[in-house]
This record gives sequence, C-alpha cells and structure tokens, in this order.
Amino acid sequence: MITAYIGLGSNLSDPVMQIHQAITAVQDIDDSNVTCVSSIYFSRPMGPQDQPDYINAVLAMETNLSALALLDSLQAIENKAGRVRKDNRWGARILDLDILLFGNEVINSQRLIVPHYGLKQREFVLLPLAEIAHDLILPDGDKVLSLSQNIDKNGLNVYSN
Ligand code: ATP
Ligand code: MG
Ligand code: MG
Repeated sequence: MITAYIGLGSNLSDPVMQIHQAITAVQDIDDSNVTCVSSIYFSRPMGPQDQPDYINAVLAMETNLSALALLDSLQAIENKAGRVRKDNRWGARILDLDILLFGNEVINSQRLIVPHYGLKQREFVLLPLAEIAHDLILPDGDKVLSLSQNIDKNGLNVYSN
C-alpha cells in the first residue's frame, strides 16, 4: 500500500460540515484506509479576497489505488458535494480535495501533478501536514517540518481538534 496525503478545503455551504462529510466519504473509498486526520483549521482565502474564509484539513491514507484512480474518487466526492467548476481560479468552492503526496512518487501528467505544486507555498497545507507527519520528507529531500516552521501563518488557526 502507498501512503497518500490529501488536502481538504471548503468555504461555502457550511464548510466545517463539508470537511467532516468529505472525511467520511474518503473513508469509504475502496481499497483504501484513512489513517490520520489533522485538526480542522481556518485560513484566509488565496487569490480573490472577496470570498469567505476557508476551512482546511489534511488527512493521511493508505491505498492500493493508482494515483489517477484516487483522483477520480476524490473528484467524484467533490462533485457529489455539489462543487461547480467555474472559470475563476481559486474562487469560492464547496469542496476541494487535492492529492498532496502519493508515496514518494513524482507525477507530471496532464491531469495530475504530484507533489501538489502549491504544497511548499501554502500555510493551510504545510501546517496541518506537519501536524500529522512531523518526520515527512518530500521526494526532493525537503523536510515538511522545516518548511512549516518557515512559512508565514497568514492568520491560519486551529478551529477544532
Ligand atoms: P489548485 O490546484 O491551485 O489548488 P484547485 O484545487 O482549485 O486549484 P481544481 O479546480 O480543484 O483546482 O482542479 C483543477 C485540476 O487540477 C483538476 O481537474 C486536476 O486534474 C488537476 N490536478 C493536478 N494535480 C492535482 C493534484 N495533485 N490534486 C488534485 N488535482 C490536481
Ligand atoms: Mg486546491
Ligand atoms: Mg483541487
């Protein structure tokens, strides 16, 4: 089995509930087990500022699925939650499920870039990730803990444990 890390985010339609429901839905993905879930955080929006604050979390899972099959399952969960894809990048959304890491794999295909390209620049990803995986080392050798200690928190705070 491969250990994958998933970033969850929502800022519409009761975001805290969306994140809890999404965690339950990920637990139901075939050939996979969720092994750890971070605290729930709230964060400032990235990009357009005229949108509500975000709720974020990161989870760890073990899976026998391929990375693309996992992406399919996550996108099905996003769609079921009612996510509508719009043209405005980084606009408000009901649910976003991103593959942050998939084992030690480096993937650069049309549908999937892993490690997630924003991982090192996003406090709302790095801090929850460091919370559940302090010793994690990225495929390029960077340590998640030191990245998380050196990033501006930009108002990120724990919402609930
Ligand atoms: P960002 O990627 O900057 O976080 P976003 O999550 O809002 O923005 P989406 O609209 O959720 O972007 O996804 C756009 C496309 O990104 C998806 O259709 C998917 O094919 C692609 N993608 C590439 N790499 C990944 C990844 N690691 N996890 C999830 N989707 C990815
Ligand atoms: Mg995203
Ligand atoms: Mg996404």
